[in-house]
Amino acid sequence: MVRFQNVTKKYGDLTVLDRLDLDVAAGEMVTIIGPSGSGKTTVLRMLMTLETIDSGVIYVDGEPLTHMEKDGKLVRANAAHMRRMRSKIGMCFQHFNLFPHMTALGNCMEGPVQVLGIPKKEAELRALELLDMVGMSEKRDQHPARLSGGQQQRVAIARALAMRPKVMLFDEVTSALDPEVISEVTGVIRKLVDQHNLTMLMVTHQMGFAKEISDRVCFFFDGSIEEQGSPEVLFDNPERERTQQFLSAVL
Ligand code: ATP
Repeated sequence: MVRFQNVTKKYGDLTVLDRLDLDVAAGEMVTIIGPSGSGKTTVLRMLMTLETIDSGVIYVDGEPLTHMEKDGKLVRANAAHMRRMRSKIGMCFQHFNLFPHMTALGNCMEGPVQVLGIPKKEAELRALELLDMVGMSEKRDQHPARLSGGQQQRVAIARALAMRPKVMLFDEVTSALDPEVISEVTGVIRKLVDQHNLTMLMVTHQMGFAKEISDRVCFFFDGSIEEQGSPEVLFDNPERERTQQFLSAVL
């Protein structure tokens, strides 16, 4: 569903992603861990088309993300292609960025109505289903300021899902939350993995969260994958010295 093929990203002299190959299969939950500055967030930013690629290609759902095929060659994509590709990707961040003047329900309807042009009634039904899925039906008429951090994050997840993405990106979604509400959000994401077969790519510093939720964990070092595997293998039996050092420092 997502493929980074030999992707290099530089900022000036600094190589942030170094010939990165990364595949995420449909329905797979992949977590990226690694030291600060190893390029984790850059991977997500590139999928959000917030950054240009220096070389290599990123594919989403079988199509190049920022390029189009023309006469057997890859050329820069036009605006319509970029819009279509962006709509395949949903995002949730550390700071939930909900619209403060709208209720939980309004937040989940805004994108579908304004961007996708879905009729209000239909958007409302879908938003209610999603709020139910994240356990927030009862708070549908509350504004974000009246919700806890964990509740806001659950609404943010429902809002992203309302756009019907094929791939969900999570960047440090539990970092701003108190330990006791992390499990609320973990539970919701786990449910998405188990019941909805969504493809997900997540960056986190919280190893417990990564272990609990991932099908596969990728340890990044200096812009490429140093080691990857199931959470059990990577956390309990890492092979590479750098992985061992990193884990012994953070666990
Ligand atoms: P952290 O765990 O601290 O969030 P990360 O692994 O997510 O780190 P990235 O945010 O991907 O790291 O950044 C990778 C490197 O790229 C860092 O050295 C960072 O300083 C650099 N970098 C990121 N964005 C820019 C930018 N816009 N201009 C220059 N350098 C940048």
